[in-house]
Amino acid sequence: MIITIRQETSGESRAQLMALLCRITGSQRPITTTQMRDREVIAIDSALVDAQAQVALQAQSAVEQIYSPKTPYQLASRSFQTENTSITIGSNSDCTPITIGGNSARPVIMAGPCAVENREQLITTAQAVKRAGAQVLRGGAFKPRTSPYQFQGLGIEGLHLLAEARTLTGLPVITEVMEPGMVETVAQYADVLQIGARNVQNFPLLSAAGHHSKKLPVLLKRGLSSTIDEWLLAAEYIIAAGNPNVILCERGIRSYDPQTRNVLDLSCVPLLHQLTHLPIIVDPSHSTGRRELVPIMSRASIAAEAQGLIIEVHPDPDTALCDGKQSITPEQLEKIVRETALLATMMRGEV
Ligand code: PEP
Ligand code: MN
Repeated sequence: MIITIRQETSGESRAQLMALLCRITGSQRPITTTQMRDREVIAIDSALVDAQAQVALQAQSAVEQIYSPKTPYQLASRSFQTENTSITIGSNSDCTPITIGGNSARPVIMAGPCAVENREQLITTAQAVKRAGAQVLRGGAFKPRTSPYQFQGLGIEGLHLLAEARTLTGLPVITEVMEPGMVETVAQYADVLQIGARNVQNFPLLSAAGHHSKKLPVLLKRGLSSTIDEWLLAAEYIIAAGNPNVILCERGIRSYDPQTRNVLDLSCVPLLHQLTHLPIIVDPSHSTGRRELVPIMSRASIAAEAQGLIIEVHPDPDTALCDGKQSITPEQLEKIVRETALLATMMRGEV
């Protein structure tokens, strides 16, 4: 159940509403509100609201509207917000801000190495990514690796290098955060917080990304075996904690055939456009695990109406410390940027 708060609400009526909501939900903690476009909203579980509570809620002067989506996710639901969410990336730092979602038709291409390895590798790649026409630089400083003996990332030093690469190129930066206690630190350097596939149900991390002080956009990857509802409920955690700026990223799901690293579920893209107003991008690198499949699956993703791509690029993919097999060269990236921009233009009927 979603409650929209009246704009010109006095502090007293607001406090009354919050106290009532705490009673209804049994919550010991203050209820968080989220600013979504021009509305301030709160969502609660409608199963907790009996007929008497419903009457009490409706009588509150702070309440503007009550709406109950029929889906388990509430604020993420397209039935609640019919307009596409538009998210600005990079407005708080020394880079060129870009917009994803809303009515913008140009695909947003995020590209860079899987992991920040050293200064030279990152700066070379960042400059090449910029020349190729991508709009956002990716790079992992904290890497979730299957084996504890694999390269784990440069940590804070990696964040410093990403910030330097941003200053040099003007590209906003996306990087992964793996633990709730690191959200504020990573947010000091990043323009977008990435929550990886393995952490899609790390609920304290989702909430921390929702209420951190900068409210940076969050790229939420689909989990290795997430259903669409579970994934949207993970997005709901972030939104319910106060941050409506969530970008979904399909990165393939686990299946039985080791020929590809994962199975890219492209049908989820148009399906998500029906279910949610959040922007959706595709990761053709982790989904396929094979660099030769990245260009064609990039085109296929844009044809399926993904609003962007996140692609792993390395100046010398065979020597990459992480995910070299799925990394492409800057030259290949340049072609993907050109082709997908053209494809999106054709899809708008402008060619
Ligand atoms: C990554 O983007 O480097 C990554 C680890 O992705 P995922 O969480 O999708 O595996
Ligand atoms: Mn990777």
